Amino acid sequence: MSFFNSIGRSMSRNPRPQKRSPTPTSADMPPPPSPVSPPASKPLYLCSPFVEAALVKGNFKTIVVLPKYVDIMEWVAVNVFDFYTNLNEFYGVISECCTQHSCPTMSAGTGLSYTWINQDRKSVNLPAPTYIDYVMTWVQNLLDDENVFPTKSGHDFPQSFPSTIKHVYRQLLRVFAHIYHAHYPQLLHLRSEPHFNSLFAHFLAFGREYELLDLKDVKGAANAPVGIGALWDKWKEMGILEG
Ligand SMILES: [Zn+2]
Repeated sequence: MSFFNSIGRSMSRNPRPQKRSPTPTSADMPPPPSPVSPPASKPLYLCSPFVEAALVKGNFKTIVVLPKYVDIMEWVAVNVFDFYTNLNEFYGVISECCTQHSCPTMSAGTGLSYTWINQDRKSVNLPAPTYIDYVMTWVQNLLDDENVFPTKSGHDFPQSFPSTIKHVYRQLLRVFAHIYHAHYPQLLHLRSEPHFNSLFAHFLAFGREYELLDLKDVKGAANAPVGIGALWDKWKEMGILEG
């Protein structure tokens, strides 16, 4: 058993903490006003000093490079495991503010909400907390599946591993995109923006290095841009990310 796999396995045994207080619903009451102010001006995450806030200074390229003697599949697996775990913890902290009322759709930009493909292959709108719960549960189940993330010596990664990881990456990106778009004020309130920015910049740099991310997913369509697309451009300009 390799070093990286043993970490992944021991950590992935921890079940995902059950989060969040149940969302009260009432048919008679109008929904409370959204805590997110309309994006009349530039989003806060693009403004100084928040856009520069980070735990790590400099370019992220150095920490995503494959270490010597490490198998690329294992390197990708352990990093994806870490991104998932950290993102899940951040979302757990702000999840009280992410309810069916505050976030009736999986919004990620002005005029952009992601839809979920259901079992009938239909594209449906889900409240963001439901969407994110589906994503995180799905990823946790993959991490726990020995056939997808093999951890025992002699077990190889399946041929489908790269495409599975790309799917995982795209969905985790959407969770980041929703948090930036809808919950950045809460991260600021918790003074978590340096941590969250560093996690996201690391995620982006890693995704580009191993071709797990399509730029069109980061930026969205011209008529429905993803909010974080502008953050990507800004960080490139600042030398935090490469092209
Ligand atoms: Zn939300």
